[in-house]
Amino acid sequence: MKNRVRERPDFDAPKKSGLSFREIFAIVLVLPLFGFIGWQFYEQNRESQEERAAAAAASRPIQDLPRPAPAPTTAPAPLPNEANTIATAGGNAVATTAEGSVGSNELRRRVALGARGTYINEILLTRDSGLARWPERVLNPLRVWVANGSSLSGWDPKYPDRVRAAFETWSLAGVPVKFTFVRDSADADVVVQWVEKFDSPITGRTLWSRDRNWWIVSGSITLALHHTTGEELDERAINAIALHEVGHLLGLDHTADTTNIMTSRVRVHELSGSDRATIRLLYALPPGSIKN
Ligand SMILES: [Zn+2]
Repeated sequence: MKNRVRERPDFDAPKKSGLSFREIFAIVLVLPLFGFIGWQFYEQNRESQEERAAAAAASRPIQDLPRPAPAPTTAPAPLPNEANTIATAGGNAVATTAEGSVGSNELRRRVALGARGTYINEILLTRDSGLARWPERVLNPLRVWVANGSSLSGWDPKYPDRVRAAFETWSLAGVPVKFTFVRDSADADVVVQWVEKFDSPITGRTLWSRDRNWWIVSGSITLALHHTTGEELDERAINAIALHEVGHLLGLDHTADTTNIMTSRVRVHELSGSDRATIRLLYALPPGSIKN
């Protein structure tokens, strides 16, 4: 599955619409946050403020992390039928146009109205002023396939349940997206895979693709069972990593506030009020760019 993702970036492109990879603007999020340094930071936090400060000083600045490339503005692709149909059929309160956009000025106004108590502006800075999210998927839940990693060192059969719980937690935070867990990856909108460890100092990675109207159309999460250095992650860590990565899958990005699950060096194990407020705002807005 890992190779499949690498070799076929469109592994999860919306098959119903018959789109090819060239018709979807793939965005890759490489997310070192929850990486080795992040967890090292987390663990040290419980032991020593001095060690924590040292770990922070040794970590890479967030702004140095790889960022998703802006989607091309030329060569418009056909609209993914699935995404747009669902967005308009689900009774979403967001007033979108046929193409799912209200224009940059209106979007900017709505962001400003709802930004208090959220880190939406940090996301906009990270994402080159664009907000991407899934269409409403309440009546037609996103299909999630969670791989079995039983062949991997460090595997715990409880881990798939932790991942499913992470999806449910976000769904219950007020997002108009529900999830159903399918047995076949070929039927999935979202694939969750496992690796024993990453070559780079990360423990989780999320990739998603969006269409030209900023609707996310597919995604994949890869979770490690060990730090890059070989130290095994435990169930508590897997739970937090999964929460963080599902946050990315839903369209969130990092915040500097370390009390949030979406901080780059996660030290919490549940969603904060700000996490919930931010995801609710994101899903109350139409996707798009606030740039003129
Ligand atoms: Zn992250």
